[in-house]
Amino acid sequence: MIYQGNSIQVDYLDQAAGIVEFRFDAKQGSVNKFDKQTNNEFVEAVAILEKSSNIKGLVVSSAKKVFIAGADIGEFVEYFKKPADELYTWLLQINDAFNRFERLPFPKVAAVNGAALGGGCEMTLVCEYRVAGVSSQIGLPETKLGIFPGFGGSVRTPRLIGIDNALEAIATGKAYKPADALKIGLVDAVVADESVMDSAVDLLKKCIDGQFDWQARRQEKLEPVKLNQIEQTMAFTTAKAMIFAKANPKQYPAVALAVEAIENHVNLPLDEAIKVEAAAFAKAATTPQAAALVGLFLNDQAVKKLAKDYSKHAFDINEAAVLGAGIMGGGIAYQAASKGLPIMMKDIKNSQLELGMSEASKLLAKEVERGKSTPEKMGRTLSLIRPTLNYGDFATPDIVIEAVVENPAVKEAVLSEVEDLVKDDTILASNTSTISITRLAKSLKRPENFVGMHFFNPVHRMPLVEVIRGEKTSDEAVATTVALAQKMGKTPIVVNDCPGFLVNRVLFPYFGAFDLLIKEGADFVQIDKTMEKFGWPMGPAYLIDVVGLDTGVHGAKVMAEGFADRMKPDYKGSIEHLYEQGRLGQKNGIGFYKYETDKKGKPKKLADDETYALLKAVQTDAQSFDEQAIIDRMMLAFCNETVRCLEDGIVASAAEADMAMIMGVGFPPFRGGPCRYIDQLGVANYVALCDRYAHLGKAYQAPDKLRQMCDAGETFY
Ligand code: NAD
Repeated sequence: MIYQGNSIQVDYLDQAAGIVEFRFDAKQGSVNKFDKQTNNEFVEAVAILEKSSNIKGLVVSSAKKVFIAGADIGEFVEYFKKPADELYTWLLQINDAFNRFERLPFPKVAAVNGAALGGGCEMTLVCEYRVAGVSSQIGLPETKLGIFPGFGGSVRTPRLIGIDNALEAIATGKAYKPADALKIGLVDAVVADESVMDSAVDLLKKCIDGQFDWQARRQEKLEPVKLNQIEQTMAFTTAKAMIFAKANPKQYPAVALAVEAIENHVNLPLDEAIKVEAAAFAKAATTPQAAALVGLFLNDQAVKKLAKDYSKHAFDINEAAVLGAGIMGGGIAYQAASKGLPIMMKDIKNSQLELGMSEASKLLAKEVERGKSTPEKMGRTLSLIRPTLNYGDFATPDIVIEAVVENPAVKEAVLSEVEDLVKDDTILASNTSTISITRLAKSLKRPENFVGMHFFNPVHRMPLVEVIRGEKTSDEAVATTVALAQKMGKTPIVVNDCPGFLVNRVLFPYFGAFDLLIKEGADFVQIDKTMEKFGWPMGPAYLIDVVGLDTGVHGAKVMAEGFADRMKPDYKGSIEHLYEQGRLGQKNGIGFYKYETDKKGKPKKLADDETYALLKAVQTDAQSFDEQAIIDRMMLAFCNETVRCLEDGIVASAAEADMAMIMGVGFPPFRGGPCRYIDQLGVANYVALCDRYAHLGKAYQAPDKLRQMCDAGETFY
């Protein structure tokens, strides 16, 4: 053994031939990553290799299913709190080891047998060649975390695969399939998974024999890119136009910093270029966006871990049923079937069943079109959905999800009817958007088996499912519903019961803030533009058009009943007023905006001057608002209600609340969620802002929890 660490082992594969294996095999944890320990061991192992005299070539390998997942993102939180100059020094130290590894006096081949992402991909780049298994992935996803490759990745990729390909790989952060990586030159060969090691050794031997000019391959990376100034300008101009059409540099500054750094270092020798990369990386890592996106990644992991823990106590689910074949019921049936779960779909109208089935086949046909499925698979999936108009077979399902109209009387009747037909331990779940689960449970004989399972529209696309625990809901019912949501490919978050649960409870005060702005004279288009610029995928007027003004008005009534002190306005708002004029939003082609169907059959939003005339009826003032005032008022209403949900124990942690808002309503991910937003503004500043707008009503007033946090100098994270 040449080197034995806890994460890295170096040993001869063939001592006579001088071939060494540099193996990543973390003793702790299921994946290899560049954590502190691995970084230290890497430095030590390189120093030993530098002193070894009889090595002729080296293969970098992994003993895990994943090659190397990247840096340890958990460690980023502490690192990124350091001042930029300390980060810069730290990066140069790690890069020194990578550079020295690259310059070892023998050829090196990476045997990529799984995901080689971020630092894992950068590890392969310090080898001369890369051989990838067919099911491996390779990429540089760092910009998704608000940073960019910092172990030489931004320096080596343009030299190896060209400026355009490197910029695309870094800006999109995508994980390349091996065939695509081969096309752009990010890997040199793709082989069967079981042959990766043999092929890498074979290639290495050819390097040792002089059949491959590995030294020239290395030299390419050490020297500036081989493009003249005009070619470079063209490459950067085209790539920048494409990149910045997608990523707003103000929202995602890491992409802009990466592009700028690459532009500045492509003409420098490698060592100098690394310094440019390190300085720009340190800048990116200390932005609030990096803190938010790294936090988001960690929150996502925490939420998934919670779901996994819940699922341990779940009952088996082999068959499900859904009541209602409407927008949601149809979507739920499709989603269950597409994950292989048989599901009965019951409605009272045959036309609805037909609609539900045709929507499911449309979605499946699209997958076949895109090459993601086959006609045979599509047929098998469709056959898992069993449409029915009667309750004949309801003795078999393990869970029944109710998705009939949002009317408590109808829901109560349907739920108690079905309770008499199912097994004693069948879980009954309601997909209600707003009605309290504890209230609906009152009509049931076995309220412990009843739970909320709130999907979002469109079901196949929206990742979140709120699992709502009513007063009497059993732990097993929660666990089983969590497990089902996971089985359906969703991310469940468990919340306690109240009108609107977590996501809609927070969304209604936000719509309330919108209504109040309109009442006081604001322009709905300006509000939409401002909030979209702030980072929301759609502004509130557009959002309510998509949700449906009827659904909004109906939900608002339930919320007003539950939280009269802040969700029951003493005036008629714009949403209700437009609804009364017959405007339902996208579903009938007119809401705040007009909608036309485009060539692809998608609704296209158009301005409608008549809306302004109609809104005059609910406007009692003619104030104008600047962008900041709009943002502050909208965000205070949203964030305050999130904090109240934490205060009331509706949601257990800031991490879950933030994830729910990002996945459920599209809260700007680069802001990390409402709790992170408050933290980044500063709790004291945020409370002061609440005080400034306190005269507008309870929705804007700082919750007690925030005042206490402010006094104690606490933050959410
Ligand atoms: P929808 O009107 O599209 O569908 C309701 C379906 O229920 C109709 O097909 C109707 O025929 C059927 N139905 C009525 N009474 C029935 C009965 N006794 N037995 C069986 N079927 C019956 O409504 P939707 O938008 O799918 O909403 C369904 C539920 O999901 C509601 O509680 C709603 O609040 C909730 N939800 C809706 C959305 C959304 O955006 N649409 C999002 C989340 C949750």
